[in-house]
Amino acid sequence: MSRARTVVVGGGLAGMRTAEALSTKGFDGEVVVLSDESERAYNRPPLSKSALRADVTSDDVPLRMRKTADFEWRLETRVVDVDLDSHVLRLSDDTTLDYDHLVAASGVRPRRLDLAGPSTARHVVRTVADARALAQALSGTGDVVILGAGFLGTELAWTIARFGRVVTVVAPEAEPLVGAIGAPAAAALRRRSESAGVMFRNGRTATHVVGESAPRAVVLDNGEVLAASVVIEAVGSAPNVDWLRSTALDVTAGIEVDDRLGVVGASNFWAVGDVASAPQALLHGRRRRLEHWTHAGESARHVAAAILGSTEPFVSVPGFWTEQGGIRLDGYGFPGAADDHVLVAGDWDEDFLARSEFEGKLIGFLAAGFVKESAPLIKELSANAAAAHA
Ligand SMILES: Cc1cc2nc3c(=O)[nH]c(=O)nc-3n(C[C@H](O)[C@H](O)[C@H](O)COP(=O)(O)OP(=O)(O)OC[C@H]3O[C@@H](n4cnc5c(N)ncnc54)[C@H](O)[C@@H]3O)c2cc1C
Repeated sequence: MSRARTVVVGGGLAGMRTAEALSTKGFDGEVVVLSDESERAYNRPPLSKSALRADVTSDDVPLRMRKTADFEWRLETRVVDVDLDSHVLRLSDDTTLDYDHLVAASGVRPRRLDLAGPSTARHVVRTVADARALAQALSGTGDVVILGAGFLGTELAWTIARFGRVVTVVAPEAEPLVGAIGAPAAAALRRRSESAGVMFRNGRTATHVVGESAPRAVVLDNGEVLAASVVIEAVGSAPNVDWLRSTALDVTAGIEVDDRLGVVGASNFWAVGDVASAPQALLHGRRRRLEHWTHAGESARHVAAAILGSTEPFVSVPGFWTEQGGIRLDGYGFPGAADDHVLVAGDWDEDFLARSEFEGKLIGFLAAGFVKESAPLIKELSANAAAAHA
């Protein structure tokens, strides 16, 4: 009898961690990771921070893996289609591969803006090659305009301002990051970045880019013209679900999974990492995709355990961090969905610990420093998540 085969689509952090967990926790079969990138998984978070360098390679941002992990990598291999009934994948080299268990770990790609104007020197940052190209462009002169004020846009602004470049962040929200961390912390991070020279145009969008072969300026919806030799688009992401288009699954907002991370409407099919749209206990079961590093690993280990026979639900407390404004801010749960932010310790403009509550209940918290004091809040949050799931 042939051995069972698990195929993982996507060789980023979540795909690698799934394969690693399967191969080290006793999966008695073949594990194959298919990746359309030319290199094995590397660590993306430093690319908007310390590793934004013109010579950065994946060796500079490695991901550690257990030495005993043993599985097959197939690089530069894109999955183009799948037949979920017969369990067969079609690959970019026109071959097919059948599976017993399928794991979607195909991540996301940067959303692009449809702005008139030159498309050269308009950057995104997702891969090592993206970071290298941006850093090379930054070795020239001229001002930088960043479109989008989420984690990526604001981290890049802080990093680039420290290179001595004039940086302006343009975004429609009233405060950068407000949707992710709530107004008080968002305002505090903005003040920190402003003190390092970053400028913000909040409540504004770009209408077009001016220039012939390269950008010279970005024009905003109020007519303001911002000089720019480098334009960065950091306006969110789109899930990599093209390979599922011919299936009956609704993949508009990612791959919908149940509370065990099994894909809704399919058998022996799981989704992990950024691409998975899972019900969140802390949000009363509302679905969210979580583009957090920690979630990639936790969801991967959970799915490996499920393939090995576990029937446990995935009731996690999401965790993330950002580095900007000279601090590391850790976040848990869903601070952006809170209706009240209660300062527990410190000061918004220094180190702080703040509860994020919704209708009086803890749904998240933020910590700049205060690591020891965070422990009881993690416990309370986990208890709330478990109670909400029950
Ligand atoms: C610049 C940057 C900074 C970040 N900083 C932070 C941070 O500070 N804190 C934090 O919590 N998180 C951060 N993140 C998010 C974190 O890195 C991601 O959540 C994590 O990398 C997601 O891993 P993943 O495996 O789900 O997706 P990915 O790493 O994107 O992997 C998906 C892989 O699948 C491949 N693929 C897609 N479609 C196919 C296909 N059809 N066939 C084969 N392969 C395919 C893709 O090319 C890719 O290699 C950051 C991300 C970026 C880009």
